[in-house]
This record gives sequence, C-alpha cells and structure tokens, in this order.
Amino acid sequence: MFYVKTKINDETTITTELTDENIFTHCPKCGTEFPVDLVEILGDGNSDLFGTAVYCAECSAKIIKK
Ligand SMILES: [Zn+2]
Repeated sequence: MFYVKTKINDETTITTELTDENIFTHCPKCGTEFPVDLVEILGDGNSDLFGTAVYCAECSAKIIKK
C-alpha cells in the first residue's frame, strides 16, 4: 500500500491511502478535475509525478483531431 502523508502542524498529520479511485489531476488545458490511473500513466518509465500532465478525454480528442 502507498499513501500520502500531509503534516498539518506539530500534532496533526493526515494519512491518505492511495487507491485506483482517489487519485485525481486537473487537465492543463481546461482545468477539469478527473481521476487518473497512475500505473497506466507512469508505467512507461519516462514520466514523473511532478512533470507529467494529463489532458482530459475531451481535450485529448480535440488534440488528436488536429
Ligand atoms: Zn481538458
């Protein structure tokens, strides 16, 4: 299991387990929030958590059409 650990202050830390249902991103073009499958996105070995952006289905379709 993997999780995100966020320190709020000296007494409080929030731990959130990562699942295939609670990982989201924002589309860099339209800002829409949508769920992503990190295994699928990062599985190519060339991506990283900080520098990788994922377009939503609608923007991806527009880009592919061009
Ligand atoms: Zn979009």
